[in-house]
Amino acid sequence: MKELIEGTAEQCERISAYFNEKRAQLPQKFKNIPNLYTLDDYLIKNKSFQAWIDWARAKFAQMHPELTGIPGDRYFVGVDSREGDMGGFHGKIAGGFFFIENRAMAIMLNSRFIDNPLLRQLELQKSYIHDSIHYSTFRRISAVPPAMDVPFPVYRQQYGINFKNPDGTAYSTVSATRRAPLSINLNLLMDGVTDLIASAMVKELSNSNSFVLQPGLAQEVFHDITGATVNFDHYERARDFHQTVLTPTRRFLEFWDKDNTLVPLLLDGMLTGDLQRLQSFFNERTHVDNSWELIFKM
Ligand SMILES: [Zn+2]
Repeated sequence: MKELIEGTAEQCERISAYFNEKRAQLPQKFKNIPNLYTLDDYLIKNKSFQAWIDWARAKFAQMHPELTGIPGDRYFVGVDSREGDMGGFHGKIAGGFFFIENRAMAIMLNSRFIDNPLLRQLELQKSYIHDSIHYSTFRRISAVPPAMDVPFPVYRQQYGINFKNPDGTAYSTVSATRRAPLSINLNLLMDGVTDLIASAMVKELSNSNSFVLQPGLAQEVFHDITGATVNFDHYERARDFHQTVLTPTRRFLEFWDKDNTLVPLLLDGMLTGDLQRLQSFFNERTHVDNSWELIFKM
């Protein structure tokens, strides 16, 4: 996890103190979740899952020096979904990575909806991989220039390959995705790439286990987490995520990347915050020098 804090010595000290305080606490949202365990505690009770987590961590180390699994005391697992809610990555309780507190949470799929324990475990594995990529994504935190009168004098100037202005406005606007596949919002692209990488890893893992699943919801959960492009007739929330995040990401990648070199470059840019190799990629494709700005800065 690469994090830079920028400002005067005094500002940096104040920002660090703020983050240290926040990161010693649980996010407010975690406090309302019943039966929430740290991953470390969850693994004591579910020993078979340890091998999967170890596998993911070893794979991360091979993929990129800056890619690491979230430590087991900063990852939280909710094992009881609320009655009536399916739980999981697309469940009503939005888990995921909480940047300020530097912790993440996943709610397991509700056993009333998905009774296959191995499938529930695999879905949790996908969330762990997805959130670990967010956790490993580069951050640059800056003090707001003193002339600006803002309630909170700190902003996240850079997260991965995306930027923010001191007034909170984004470098890459949501509407960029309307120009897909030529352009795409950079936050959406990072989430899409994160999810495609997580799906590919889960697919690889699933090959070493046999899954016998009934057609319907269970099969659609399996397809969702292994990145299959199918109709999600029984799994509306997965369908929405595929339509709004994964489909534009895939279209963008297909448009720009004929040789499958762009995803590793995007991952490298996200983890290091260094955009040079990515910018060269787009300059070569377009024969225009500042193509990155022209494509993404809208
Ligand atoms: Zn995400």
